[in-house]
Amino acid sequence: MTDCIFCKINAILTPTEFIYKDEEMSAFYDISPKAPVHFMIIPKLHIESMDALTEQHINLIGKMMLKASTLAKEHGLKGYKVKINTGVEGGQEVFHLHIHVLGRSYK
Ligand code: 5GP
Ligand code: ZN
Repeated sequence: MTDCIFCKINAILTPTEFIYKDEEMSAFYDISPKAPVHFMIIPKLHIESMDALTEQHINLIGKMMLKASTLAKEHGLKGYKVKINTGVEGGQEVFHLHIHVLGRSYK
């Protein structure tokens, strides 16, 4: 099996541990939350980072951004931050592309 922690998460997390999952992406809570609500959206495909994106990923990344917005609404977030750390100098620790969503729920 791959050494990538997020590929492993995609493979082994039980359905209830995902906030969302389909054939292209999944979403789950960050193990070390930096905000009252902190989840990540990742592609099923192992893409290392923003730097590895090509035109073939445009549809996927668009769907992931839309999912960030949908899940933020479902969490009752009125405002939130969307963050993609890129490269070691950009603070990236896990080299499988992920979109952080950080906010506070007002539900
Ligand atoms: P990065 O710094 O690469 O943008 O973010 C990686 C994030 O993944 C960190 O916020 C870290 O807390 C989270 N993380 C690392 N390992 C795991 C894990 O095994 N499970 C979950 N849910 N989050 C993880
Ligand atoms: Zn991976």
